[in-house]
Amino acid sequence: MRAKLVAGNWKMNGSLAANQALLAVVVPALGSLEGGSEFAVCVPFPYLAQIQQVLRGQKVALGAQDACHFDSGAYTGGVSAAMVAEFGCRYVIVGHSERRSVFGDTDQTVAEKFAQVMRHGMTPILCVGETLAERDGGLTETVVARQLDAVVERNGIAALGRSVVAYEPVWAIGTGKTATPEQAQAVHAYLRGRVAAMDRRLADQLRILYGGSVKAGNAAQLFAMADVDGGLIGGASLVADEFIAICRAAAGTKDRVTV
Ligand code: PEP
Repeated sequence: MRAKLVAGNWKMNGSLAANQALLAVVVPALGSLEGGSEFAVCVPFPYLAQIQQVLRGQKVALGAQDACHFDSGAYTGGVSAAMVAEFGCRYVIVGHSERRSVFGDTDQTVAEKFAQVMRHGMTPILCVGETLAERDGGLTETVVARQLDAVVERNGIAALGRSVVAYEPVWAIGTGKTATPEQAQAVHAYLRGRVAAMDRRLADQLRILYGGSVKAGNAAQLFAMADVDGGLIGGASLVADEFIAICRAAAGTKDRVTV
């Protein structure tokens, strides 16, 4: 049985005051949820120290949104996995489509980032997903397979088993266009099947999150699909009652929370 995971990706949003206000509502609400679901927030680097303090002893884990593919040295502006680990991060997102498209991360640099994150004892959340043109061209499986395989080739299949995969169709990220539960399930099942061909037991245990315009109103249907093990949540993770409701959906509690 795979425990559901809901991770917020704050992207380049927040301020010291806004973070404090958001988490003052979110953290106690998630702390009161029963069941085995897990929760995390992946925050911008400058706020790691602040959020580490806020989350100390709480049920919500801390994550970062990226880590450099190099270890240390003359890489101005870079932030290494070793640095991020010092702030108690459990998760680090690698290969987010915004990193791939805006900052030029390739399958190879993503595979190196994955290696760095693992080397420093954290869990990579590996994002894969196709653009609309790729979907329309019938290339969805080809693209996500290529992105997954690059990581497996560099790190080995056992390493993948100590990570989390997030299927995030690029056309659904921040657009308000969510994949239908059936579309998400089809790609999740494909990814699990591809991993199963390498290691069946590992595939059964691997958590595959869905990301792309998940909201309170669609989370329960997505999370009900057999191969959807939770969500990576962008915009809605910045809105307390939305994020709490999404986490409640993962925990199997459907009631809308009033905050
Ligand atoms: C994301 O940034 O990973 C994401 C899924 O964004 P959104 O939920 O806003 O589509």
